[in-house]
Amino acid sequence: MAKENKDVKIHEIVKYPDPILNKAGEPITVFDEDLRKLVEEMFASMYEAHGIGLAAPQIGLSKRLTVIDVSFKKNPEDKLVLINPEIIEREGEQYEEEGCLSLPDIRDKVRRAAKVKVRAQNAKGEWFEIEGEELLARAFQHEIDHLDGVLFIERLSRLKKDLTVRKIKKLIKNGEW
Ligand SMILES: [Zn+2]
Repeated sequence: MAKENKDVKIHEIVKYPDPILNKAGEPITVFDEDLRKLVEEMFASMYEAHGIGLAAPQIGLSKRLTVIDVSFKKNPEDKLVLINPEIIEREGEQYEEEGCLSLPDIRDKVRRAAKVKVRAQNAKGEWFEIEGEELLARAFQHEIDHLDGVLFIERLSRLKKDLTVRKIKKLIKNGEW
């Protein structure tokens, strides 16, 4: 297994305030071997960075593709690939803490739907629907936001967002970001 993983490219995670993170991704139209290789690289890059979700813009690719594994390698059925995803149903509300690989060490509570239904394509281009609640619902909403060029800090109150941006600017200035 380890030998197999050695051949998978690990991508560097793009950090805020890289403008690609505020750009909506382009739909994916070609479902070929290259795409499946990219999906594998995204999972490997996500695990390497200790994340449970990674969207293509976070590796510098403005495309509508995201990978999620809320179990972090524990349950193979939790390994999800969402291509050109759309939220088609939302229900209830949750208010829980989120973080983001593009905003290291920044965490804050975000208001999200408690339960969502997503329609997406898999790496072969087949459409499917999937429902998620709690953490999985948050992951769906957080990652699909990335594909629309939206970061979780943009969903905070104006005051909290300003404070967070100021904190990040200070870290950048001190070379700690
Ligand atoms: Zn994120």
